[in-house]
Order: sequence, then structure tokens, then C-alpha cells
Amino acid sequence: MKIIIIGAGPGGYETALLAAQRGVEVVLVESGHVGGTCLNEGCIPTKSFCRNAEVLDTIRSAESFGISDLSYGFDFKAVVDWKNAVVEQLRGGVETLLKHKLITFVKGKAVFKDQHTVTVDSTDYSADYIIIATGSVSSSLPIEGADTPGILTSREILDIETVPERLCVIGGGVIGLEFASVFRSFGSEVTVLEYCKDILPRFDTDLAKRLKQSLSKRGIEIITQAQVTGISSDGTSYKVTYNRKDKEETVVSDKVLMAVGRRANLNSLNFEDVGIEVGRRGVAVNGFMQTNVPHIYAVGDINGLMMLAHAATYQGIVALDHIMGMENKIDLSVMPAAVFTSPEAASVGMTEDECKEKGIPVKCLKSFFRANGKAVTMGETDGFCKVVVSDDRVLGCHLYGPHASDIIQEACALISRKATLDEFQSIIHTHPTLAEVLQSAVHA
Ligand SMILES: Cc1cc2nc3c(=O)[nH]c(=O)nc-3n(C[C@H](O)[C@H](O)[C@H](O)COP(=O)(O)OP(=O)(O)OC[C@H]3O[C@@H](n4cnc5c(N)ncnc54)[C@H](O)[C@@H]3O)c2cc1C
Repeated sequence: MKIIIIGAGPGGYETALLAAQRGVEVVLVESGHVGGTCLNEGCIPTKSFCRNAEVLDTIRSAESFGISDLSYGFDFKAVVDWKNAVVEQLRGGVETLLKHKLITFVKGKAVFKDQHTVTVDSTDYSADYIIIATGSVSSSLPIEGADTPGILTSREILDIETVPERLCVIGGGVIGLEFASVFRSFGSEVTVLEYCKDILPRFDTDLAKRLKQSLSKRGIEIITQAQVTGISSDGTSYKVTYNRKDKEETVVSDKVLMAVGRRANLNSLNFEDVGIEVGRRGVAVNGFMQTNVPHIYAVGDINGLMMLAHAATYQGIVALDHIMGMENKIDLSVMPAAVFTSPEAASVGMTEDECKEKGIPVKCLKSFFRANGKAVTMGETDGFCKVVVSDDRVLGCHLYGPHASDIIQEACALISRKATLDEFQSIIHTHPTLAEVLQSAVHA
């Protein structure tokens, strides 16, 4: 059996490695750097920035821990250098792994020639199966001035040379808020403009509201129900115009980050020519990640189902198992997600609103970090944990607060195993730990 995988992001390269480990011959094609968006301009570089922001915030809070006379400098170039070093190190690791005897790595842009063949720089490669894992690209707004030179996307902001005094972030989703949070820590005055009623539209509304309050307390101005209508620049600063409750308002800033979501990277692969169906969100797939052409699969951001790195990886496993006729127990509906703001937020399973919409009767159990011993010792007491329970079964867990992205994993493990409230309650937690916030919630 031979498989061609197009794209070496977390969907493509992880699948290639697993396939090779299972003895399958793989041709992996990548037009950019291995690691894709995640490693080169997404998850990893942003979390490197988050770590810098965390260190800065910790130093700033030192006085409340009795550490005084502290002087420190902040060199933004060192932040970018550290980020680049982290990315290079991890990329080197992936490159080494990909030197597997069953993987042929092809550098270049793949284009479909027919349903079994792709062309890369005029060389044809054919296989029994093809997995498309070509990711996504930043979206923009169809507004006047959206193409004004200097407007940043999540890619460019990772390499700016100085911290802007004033940063306007268009979009209060995960990516926009993460940058808003780190640049606030780096010293920018940050304004976030969000079209919807709340930030993080897909998250639990309770969580979104409270996280907004926390971020506002840190000095980030978040304006919701703001429809951005235009952007202009005089060459040094930007004026972002928005409409809120029928009133036209403006934000003036030194930099503008456009963070209004991402869309499947559908450009130039010739999907239509080879008969691959494309839907509203991306390449259309079934539960096995199979397109309408049975031997062609699409995993990760390209299918638009769930634009997360771990979703891409696990969709790849589902596709590979299907190709190889293997049983698969992965439940893609239990997909954890985290927002690496300060404080962090994380979520898995159904929200209270979703249950209500579906007519599922629920009760919500809550606990607060202010009652968590470890959080109090850390001086990080902002946040809560909310567990959604129906008929004694835990359907969802939503929290914000310190290390929310780590704590969510326990809830994810149990929800994916369909644990009851009783089973959640019976698990012993180390004391004192932040994870006890989940224990307190399920006992509430
Ligand atoms: C700023 C930012 C922060 C993020 N943070 C997180 C996070 O913290 N956690 C998380 O889970 N997710 C995060 N994401 C999302 C995550 O990066 C994506 O969901 C993930 O990278 C998708 O993986 P993928 O394999 O589908 O595609 P990608 O990682 O985009 O990889 C696709 C690859 O395909 C290549 N390619 C495209 N077309 C072709 C072609 N024709 N021929 C050959 N190669 C091609 C591209 O060069 C690319 O390397 C973040 C994204 C951004 C932008």
C-alpha cells in the first residue's frame, strides 16, 4: 500500500509517521516548512510569546511576594529570537523523525493531476490513497481599507520589530485574544473589536463573559457588538472605524491585527478538476475523513470541522485506520480546546447553552479558584470551573483560570470514556493542586 500525504502540518506529518511505523510507504509533500501552521506560525510561536508574557507578569507581581528592589529590562528582540529558536529546535526534531525509510519527503507544491496522482514541480507521484492536509489561511474582512499596507495577520505579528504602543485587534476569538493578552503584558494599550455579543462565540457564555471581565481588569479594552466597517492609515497610525448600536466610532492605533478567523486553504490544488467535493467550510468529508472520492481523505483545517492542531492529528489517525481497515475508538466529538490568554480558558464537551438548545435537561456544578489552596498560594485566584451534568453523566467542562489548559485534560479523559458524575467524584486528587478545582466542582 502507498499513500500520498499533501501538507506536513500536525495533520500530515503525524499521519505520515504513524503510517510508516505501521509499514506503509508514504510520499509526504510540503511546500513550506515541516510542522505547518502549528509549529511555524501558530500554536508553538504564540505559546512562546505567552511564556514571555507570563515571565513578565510574574516579575511585575514580585512585590506582593515580598521581593523588592527588582529592576528588569525588556528586550522585545530577545522575545522574537527565543520564539525563533524554539520553532527551529522543534522543526529540527520533526525533520529528524521524518527521515524514516518508508517516508519519501518531497519539497514543493502538490497539485492534483488525477484521482491517484499529484504533480510536484513537474514530477508525478501516484498512490493507492491520498490524504489532503493542506491546512488553512487567515481570513480578512470585505471592508474598505482591508488591504491597507501594514495590517498584520497572525503570521506577521510574530515577527514585528517593536511592541506597538497601541494595538487594535479585530476579532475577539481565540487567536485575537491570545495576541491581545500577550501584547498587553508586553506593554501595549490593546483594544479588541468583536462583532458578536460576546468574545469567544463558540465557548460557554458564562466563561466568555467572565474571561472578558478578567481581561478588561488587565487593561484590555474589549468592545463587543462592534462591526468594523473600514480601516485607513496616514502612514504612521491606523484608524479603524466600526459601527456599534447604530453609532460610528473609531479606534486609532499604531498597529492593527486582523484576527477574524481562518478558512480552508482551497487554492490551486485542482479539487474541482478531479471531482473532490468542496463544502461551505472546506473539503467535504464523512466521519472517516473520507471525501466523496473514496480513496481520497482530507484531515485537519482543510475540512474546516475543527481548526485545532490536535484535531488535525487525530483526524489523521481516523483516516489512516479507515484506509487500513483497522478498528478505531477515537471519539472526535470530545475535542478539548484552550485559549492561552492570561488567565487561560479551556473547554471540552457540551456547553450549557448547547444542551438547552437541544432540549437536554442539565445541572451545572461550579467551583472557584479563589477557594483553591494552590491558586491562593500563587496569587492567581481569578477563574472558575463549571461542569455540565445531565442524568448523572458529565457532558462538558468549561473553566478559566491558571493552567486551565492542563486541567481540562482530566475532564476530557473522563468525558471521552463517558464517565458518570459518581466516577468523576471518586477520583483522588493530589493536594494542594490546581486540578482540585475540578474535584470541588463535581462535589459542589
Ligand atoms: C496564531 C495561531 C495560533 C494557534 N494556536 C493553536 C493552539 O494553541 N492550539 C491548537 O490546537 N491550534 C492552534 N492553532 C491552529 C493550528 O495551527 C491548526 O489547527 C493546525 O496547524 C492545522 O493543522 P493542519 O495539518 O490541518 O494544517 P497546517 O498546520 O496549516 O499545515 C498544512 C501544511 O500544508 C502545506 N501545504 C499547503 N498547500 C500545499 C500544497 N499544495 N502542496 C504541499 N504542501 C502544501 C502548508 O505549507 C502547511 O505546512 C493556531 C493557529 C494560529 C494561526
